[in-house]
Amino acid sequence: MVSEQSPDIAAPHPLNTKTLKQIFWLSPIGMTILDLNGRFLSANQAFCDALGIEEIDLLALSFKDFTDCEDVPLLCALGSQLIRGNRQHFQIETRHRSGKKAPLQVSLTVTMVRDSLQRPICFLVQVVDLTERKWMEDQLKHHAFYDLLTGLANRALFVNRLEQTLKRMERRTDKPCAVLFLDLDRFKGINESLGHSVGDQLLVTLARRLEACVRRCDTLARLGGDEFAILLEETTGLEDVTAVCDRIHDALRRPFLVGDCETYTTISIGVVYGDGGQTASTLLSNADTALYRAKAQGGACHTVFEETMHQRAVTLWQLSNYSQQAVQRQEMHVRYQPIVDLATGQTASVEALIRWNHPQHGSISPSEFIPVMEETGVITDIGYWVLRAACQQVSQWQPQLPQHLRPTVNINVSPRQLTHFALIDQIETILAETGLAAEQLRLEITENALIQTIDLSMQVLKTLQELKVGLCIDDFGMGYSSLSRLQQLPVDTLKIDRSFIRHIKRDGENTEIARSIIDLARSLGMTVVAEGVETLHQLEQLKALACDKVQGFYFAKPLLPDAALRFMQTPVML
Ligand code: C2E
Ligand code: CA
Ligand code: CA
Repeated sequence: MVSEQSPDIAAPHPLNTKTLKQIFWLSPIGMTILDLNGRFLSANQAFCDALGIEEIDLLALSFKDFTDCEDVPLLCALGSQLIRGNRQHFQIETRHRSGKKAPLQVSLTVTMVRDSLQRPICFLVQVVDLTERKWMEDQLKHHAFYDLLTGLANRALFVNRLEQTLKRMERRTDKPCAVLFLDLDRFKGINESLGHSVGDQLLVTLARRLEACVRRCDTLARLGGDEFAILLEETTGLEDVTAVCDRIHDALRRPFLVGDCETYTTISIGVVYGDGGQTASTLLSNADTALYRAKAQGGACHTVFEETMHQRAVTLWQLSNYSQQAVQRQEMHVRYQPIVDLATGQTASVEALIRWNHPQHGSISPSEFIPVMEETGVITDIGYWVLRAACQQVSQWQPQLPQHLRPTVNINVSPRQLTHFALIDQIETILAETGLAAEQLRLEITENALIQTIDLSMQVLKTLQELKVGLCIDDFGMGYSSLSRLQQLPVDTLKIDRSFIRHIKRDGENTEIARSIIDLARSLGMTVVAEGVETLHQLEQLKALACDKVQGFYFAKPLLPDAALRFMQTPVML
């Protein structure tokens, strides 16, 4: 039995027309009803909100008024198919012009509504706003192919473009393309001394300057860290590429303003040409080999890849394992380059520079084999050998030179040596063996190596200072040592990197950096040496700047011991 109060009987059916209209109006999915000509009959709140228009204003309009012109014919054709009964509904993605500024990306589902006799009455259109999702997709695509920091293409996009270019070249005999592999010289230093956010600022500024050096059709990418790459399509050969490299080096001559300080940097470039016969990864790896060579030549330059380089790199790697035997076989020797005191014209010191004459491979430059020996660790043994050989040589010279002409000896040490306490024992033993005073020995360490190993090497450096062994920062000016760091170091000499001397002109142009290093050395009570002096006008400019000492081909190349002794016996006329 059914109770009298039973709601089933008393209450009206919940889905009456009014309720249905309300459900339509409140549905979170945008919906609209169109007549068979596409004119608006009704639209719900979500639809009006998405288009930024009131329902009342819509009623005078047609759906076409909001649809991207390009999609109108397709929509009309699909609408006709619905009316004819060929299909029940369709879905399409299109763009809506809205009252808001940006057009909307939307997905439309259009359904034919028919009466009980299957006659078409109206279209029900459901609209999903895809704008945000599309934007997110675009962002994801962007992140997959672009570098977040600089906005340049990333490695993936670069490799992709390079592959496309090489494919095109396979089909047609185009002019060759060129890949330039760029790496900032001594960038680690700026990150470690001035902080990563300063490093990032520098990379962004650099990216903008590099952009200005290439054509729009070329691809400039950041491969990671301080590595960039450029793809030059259709080069006419060496001249083209040289022009781009020159523009890049020029663009870096202006100082970079990072944080509140001005700083300078240089870049090394490895170049390789592609003619369609190679893969992208071979080209990149060859460009990297050429870059390695450019770095070995002191950086701030570009080198074009040659097939022999790869072989050379492999050979060097193998050779480095035999370098100890090389010493025994007497393939290695030390040369001495005078460092002249500008006040007296006397040779204040000699720098010991290692040489390797290999019976098959000829003379191999230390810039080539020292970095390999660093990596393989052989450098500690070879370094010890140089230390001993050079100290023995200088002590042999002693009796042949009057007291005031006896030089000190500068010996290059690599970071691996400086982080080992064994170095102290070695030096004490050698000084005892040769009878040389500690004050006659000065170690040279590059600014960059010093910054990178500072925490590990500080104790060794302090002990060297207690022993009264001198310490010189080599290649100074490119490693961004901060003033406060410099003051903490037991360093007595700064050696100006030769890249700053090379550009000094007759009229005194390009002396600013040398001048500021000399001023800095003065204020810290250090001696300053300029290396790489090749011309009389460079010498004269350095004299005018009151530089203490100079070294370079203008006076002498690195000499064999006998020639070095003769050089020291007669002070030069200045
Ligand atoms: P470095 O310490 O900067 O040495 C100076 C380099 O500049 C030498 O090259 C020297 O020959 C060259 N040079 C000197 N005057 C001039 C000039 O007027 N113009 C030009 N263009 N160059 C000049 P080298 O002998 O080829 O040595 C290259 C590098 O190899 C050295 O650079 C040093 O970093 C490293 N090295 C050499 N011997 C040793 C060593 O015994 N131990 C270690 N760890 N490194 C060494
Ligand atoms: Ca040196
Ligand atoms: Ca140097």
